[in-house]
Amino acid sequence: MGKKYEYPHRAAEEARILEATARWEHELEMGWLSIGHIFVDQVRGEESDDIESTAAVTYASWEYRHATITWYLPAVGTMTDEALNDVVVHELVHVLLAPLRDHLKPGSIKQEEFATECVARAIVAARKAPRV
Ligand SMILES: [Zn+2]
Repeated sequence: MGKKYEYPHRAAEEARILEATARWEHELEMGWLSIGHIFVDQVRGEESDDIESTAAVTYASWEYRHATITWYLPAVGTMTDEALNDVVVHELVHVLLAPLRDHLKPGSIKQEEFATECVARAIVAARKAPRV
């Protein structure tokens, strides 16, 4: 049971997340997916071990082209816009790679995270690079 956070700028943080996710979903042409966003003060579940640094957890019903990203507001509230952008891209890559999860061996979360982070960083780097 985690500590209950009082978060004074909740509405502003939710708006900042929705603006960033809408921009990246458009940029990555993910309009064919339905992505819902949930905002919470505490994260529960398998990825909550590292609760202080967990900003978001993604669950995808990829066969129905639907995903939900649960945002942990106290963690997001400490982030710069650039750091939030990195997390947004990371979570959207999780959505795109979700069909592969069923084929991963149990306990291979680190491999999934590594692959997700590498693709996310490549997208962010490509976005910053000059267009030819
Ligand atoms: Zn991840």
